[in-house]
Amino acid sequence: MEEPVRPIIIAELCTSCGACVEVCPHHALSLVAGVPVLDTSIECEYCGNCEEVCPTEAIRRPFLVVFSQPAA
Ligand code: SF4
Ligand code: SF4
Repeated sequence: MEEPVRPIIIAELCTSCGACVEVCPHHALSLVAGVPVLDTSIECEYCGNCEEVCPTEAIRRPFLVVFSQPAA
């Protein structure tokens, strides 16, 4: 089974403000030693709330681009 795509966290850019933790509707994020960690046992619906509130772009949602093949 394919791994789900999850937000990435760049610890060097994080100011430990906790805003992303507050806005996650699934409580999938928590601060561990001042850096957000995503609990992979909890569903991430990829809503983008964490990305939107982050003042330093330390948490971002990567996107997978899939090209369709023309029908033969
Ligand atoms: S994208 Fe949404 S559900 Fe996923 S970690 Fe961020 S706030 Fe939580
Ligand atoms: S909102 Fe951004 S700066 Fe604040 S804790 Fe989350 S990742 Fe770090």
